[in-house]
Amino acid sequence: MSTAGDRRRACAVAGARETRQFDPPSDSEGHTRISAIYGRNTFGLHKMREKLPAADYTKLLGILEDGATLDAELAAAVAHAAKEWAIENGATHFTHWFQPLTGLTAEKHDAFLTFGPDQQAIERFDPSQLIQSEPDASSFPSGGMRVTFEARGYTAWDISSPMFLMKAPTGTTLCIPSAYLSYTGHALDEKTGLLRSVAVLGKEVRALYATLGREGYGRVTSTVGPEQEYFLVDRAFGPLRPDLLMTGRTVLGAPPPKGQQLDDHYFGAISPRVAAFMREFEYELYELGVPVKTRHNEVAPGQFEMAPIFEEAQVAADHNQLAMEVMRQVARRHNFHVFFHEKPFAGINGSGKHINWSLAARRPDGGWENLFEPGETPTKNSRFLLMTAATQRAILRHAGVLSASISGSGNDHRLGANEAPPAIISVFLGSTLRGIFDRLSAGTEQRGDAASESIDLGVAHLPDVKRDNTDRNRTSPFAFTGNKWEFRAAGSSQAISFPVTVLNAAMAEAVRDMNAEIKAAMAAGASVDDAVLAVLRSVAAETAPVRFEGDNYSKEWELEAEERGLPNLRKTPDALAHFAAEENHRFLVEAGVFSEAEVMARVHVRVERYIMDIEIETNTLLELIDTRVVPAVSRYHGELCSAVIAAKNAGMDAPQSARAAEVGAALTDLFRARDALADVCASVSSETDEMARARRVAYEVTPAMDALRAVSDQLEALTADSEWPLPRYSEMLFVR
Ligand code: ADP
Ligand code: MG
Repeated sequence: MSTAGDRRRACAVAGARETRQFDPPSDSEGHTRISAIYGRNTFGLHKMREKLPAADYTKLLGILEDGATLDAELAAAVAHAAKEWAIENGATHFTHWFQPLTGLTAEKHDAFLTFGPDQQAIERFDPSQLIQSEPDASSFPSGGMRVTFEARGYTAWDISSPMFLMKAPTGTTLCIPSAYLSYTGHALDEKTGLLRSVAVLGKEVRALYATLGREGYGRVTSTVGPEQEYFLVDRAFGPLRPDLLMTGRTVLGAPPPKGQQLDDHYFGAISPRVAAFMREFEYELYELGVPVKTRHNEVAPGQFEMAPIFEEAQVAADHNQLAMEVMRQVARRHNFHVFFHEKPFAGINGSGKHINWSLAARRPDGGWENLFEPGETPTKNSRFLLMTAATQRAILRHAGVLSASISGSGNDHRLGANEAPPAIISVFLGSTLRGIFDRLSAGTEQRGDAASESIDLGVAHLPDVKRDNTDRNRTSPFAFTGNKWEFRAAGSSQAISFPVTVLNAAMAEAVRDMNAEIKAAMAAGASVDDAVLAVLRSVAAETAPVRFEGDNYSKEWELEAEERGLPNLRKTPDALAHFAAEENHRFLVEAGVFSEAEVMARVHVRVERYIMDIEIETNTLLELIDTRVVPAVSRYHGELCSAVIAAKNAGMDAPQSARAAEVGAALTDLFRARDALADVCASVSSETDEMARARRVAYEVTPAMDALRAVSDQLEALTADSEWPLPRYSEMLFVR
């Protein structure tokens, strides 16, 4: 059993830590410049050009551009080159690296080993192993799909995401980013749907471009840059906080006297120990070709952020998973635990993952066009306005499913608390664009509208800065930020694939419908320009309810949003029930992004996961109360009572008696709240319908947890420090 002594020793250990020295990796000439080592552990285009015969390389580029599949001959060439490169770099094993529906990544390692005719060992990597591999997948969640359709699954290389070498003390492994499917083609992973969503969105955008007479454009893709927030806690506290280790969050703990009221941590100087951690994981990520760009302190003490340069969605999704994995490993070397949970500490800002999202089309000249880049003047740019209108339509129509895509037990603590965007998904445009859409909606827009809205800096030699929407509204869940959107409601622990898939599919539908509306107007005799304007006006009017520039945290907004008919899916089971309804997820099926079975599998996996998360949390909470809090408080209460009795026996006043009564009463409350939680858990666990059970977990179990925690936290503030066994918030968050 842990005691206050253990806690104090942990504080001393954490406080005395030295900064870990780290020598950045260098190339063969000793250069440590980022560019000298960037991507050297990936088998990217650069390496492929070096290692593949020129004709094969050209063929591969063509396949990447057209989204075709890899044929056996080319697969053989790539497999051979990848194997040679991997072995040259010390690899002994390879693995298909994929994203099952757990939201984590999975891998199964095989040695590059076969035997020749004389039983001699040969390093071999069969091309068929590149194209597909059969993991023993029975332990990955399939939401019932494997049971229904097929017992086994297979993984196949996603050629748009480069292979990479994972170096670990146990050896080096060639990782092959893969999709994971059942033999009947059902997506058992997060990647497949994302790839399908990019494909269908590309098809619809190209169709719209054709209607607009924009010729010669190639591939369309979605680009994503996920900003990742996280907490660091010294490892010395880990063994004393099983709740943090088991659930990623503290299920109890009183707020520190100094919280984040002073906001002095935000963008403050990074401590040397933390800076060393950042530098080391960044270098590892550079070698893996993950373009890490910014680092800074976040709002809460102990909280930080990492942001990469944006990449194509499926690569960004892989890289975000990889970044979290590398950060976990490197944190260990620096004696930190890194927590990606959305709410590790109650009363302290939680962590999100802002998904910066845009679309790009290959221009006729080979470069990329950002579809949300305003032209010289926004109104002159019909492509820009059509795309921003389509986005608003996509969000208005599918806000509920978007909520479901980022729902989870951790994120429930953020959404709806006044710190993160609320569960109501609305769109923030910023004043310029908002004005344009309001005027379009009223039919009062002017030619060249907003042509010269720039901020006059009043300094002659500085160029004018075009005013865009960088007057940020931090409270909005979905904000236009100049030439991209920022979806801020995603949780820090979540895989980004699913929300981006939903976003892409919703966008594909909006673009498809607007294209059809433009074509209908043209068929009725309108010119392209007139048809576009008419559709823009009608979409602007239709989407007015989803636009909101005010304070998303306010009570008034909640009421107004209800009047506007926007969904407010507060808790995970609400969002998942919404997602499960056929009329709400039909667009995903129609777009060919998920089959009905795949949608329902995702619902089941998420509902199950939600129930399991809270079950682990309640078990952990009950154990902490029973084995740590109750004994500590009882000892302290005993001391107080002894002092009172001793004073009484000596015929003196006992100033401790009020405190003894207070602690005694709180201890009684603690037992009551503890039993109430245990009772409600027992009652809920007999619920056979999964969705009904999840709802009861959300609306009966979690309030009972909160009630128990409140009493425990009250007792933490009353109990003698010499008795309290659990590291306090002030210790975990401020000792560095
Ligand atoms: P800001 O300061 O406006 O947040 P940054 O340039 O710092 O802008 O970008 C924040 C994140 O948005 C980064 O991860 C960045 O790579 C990403 N981002 C920028 N442009 C795009 C884009 N066109 N598509 C997707 N993500 C983008
Ligand atoms: Mg940002």
